[in-house]
Amino acid sequence: MGAILIKNGHVIDPANRVDARRDVLVEGGRIAAVGTGLSAPEAQVIDASGLYVFPGFVDLHVHLREPGREDEETIRTGTRAAAAGGFTSVCAMPNTTPVIDRATGINYLRSATQRDALVNVFPAAAVTVGQQGKEITEFGDLIRRGAVAFTDDGHCVADSEIMRRALEYTAMFDVPVLDHCEDPMLKRDGVIHEGRVSMMLGLRGIPAVSETVIVARDIALAEYVGGHVHIQHVSTRRSVELIREGKRRGVRVTAEVTPHHLALTEEACLTFDTNAKVAPPLRSEDDRQSLIEGLRDGTLDAIATDHAPHTDIEKDMVFTEAPFGTIGLEFAFAVCHGELVATDRMDLATLVEKMTVVPAAILRLNKGTLSVGADADITIVDLGLEKTISRGTLLSKSYNTPFLGKTLRGFPVHTLVGGRLVYSNGKIV
Ligand SMILES: [Zn+2]
Repeated sequence: MGAILIKNGHVIDPANRVDARRDVLVEGGRIAAVGTGLSAPEAQVIDASGLYVFPGFVDLHVHLREPGREDEETIRTGTRAAAAGGFTSVCAMPNTTPVIDRATGINYLRSATQRDALVNVFPAAAVTVGQQGKEITEFGDLIRRGAVAFTDDGHCVADSEIMRRALEYTAMFDVPVLDHCEDPMLKRDGVIHEGRVSMMLGLRGIPAVSETVIVARDIALAEYVGGHVHIQHVSTRRSVELIREGKRRGVRVTAEVTPHHLALTEEACLTFDTNAKVAPPLRSEDDRQSLIEGLRDGTLDAIATDHAPHTDIEKDMVFTEAPFGTIGLEFAFAVCHGELVATDRMDLATLVEKMTVVPAAILRLNKGTLSVGADADITIVDLGLEKTISRGTLLSKSYNTPFLGKTLRGFPVHTLVGGRLVYSNGKIV
């Protein structure tokens, strides 16, 4: 693998407190040097003048849909979408068909990703067999084979005793439980946030408290047994308050928020756009403001996309029947930059931190930095680059996003994974 010299970019590497114009030299798949006036006669040069150079983004929460739903997404298409969005490492959720709940599943994923993945894929395994919520999986064996976390994502672990044991066992191995917090009894067949818009549209609501009760329960359980609970896709003000309080008490609780919950509210459902039907649902403006505040003050640690591809056929159904989920990998940075940095609510380095070294740390991955010797996973971003989100430009196999047709600003122009250029100027290399 040849050396690459990234010249004259503005490097932001929060782990090393770098926020200045620097050159970055990549050799043998690793960061060889970060400094000024670097030269390497043999190296391929990428001119990053006017561009920003970040550690590759790390996404804690991605649905690649393989095995089983290759009509929605595959490891190949999902990781191409990741590369286009500047994500160099993703954690794949286990709610595939079959569910990743045993050695054969992890082994399959590892060989399939070796063959097809353009970026690093770290598998999460199910908490319970078949995600049925009844019987816990073989945590030790799954960790040995490469599982970096456990989750029944897509479903809530409804049984409190199962959740208690999941937190106890994972604490022994020092891995997190990624927690989809929706009480199924309170959610029932709700399809949208229970509030003003659900009333107007006459749609069955999902109350904010359906999230709150599980967040409160699982923080209490983590406090009791000492495990690490990571709250996925936080959507309500009360959840933010509970997590803030849990952290203050010293509980090992971390949390993520999605770009769509940061940028959109229940109002996005007013047109019955099924692409705005997500789980947990888009909430009120008050909830959204509390998510931004929680992200700013560190209560919410990381940004994660919950990239959840669904086909046109599925999303063309009526609102009540369509599946929950939106894609997000390819424009997550642009959405967050527009919502947080362009509005002066957060500085760029903090946003980068929440998309790199922090999510990596939650999964205990040695990723998300430009330290000398680290894997050369790098994203080079043009903050001025505008794109209109459209079927013609998305690399994901599915197009389900409420941002379709919207023009956003701030996109990666080059992505390197392990020192290899995998995405450049709109194209997979
Ligand atoms: Zn989920």
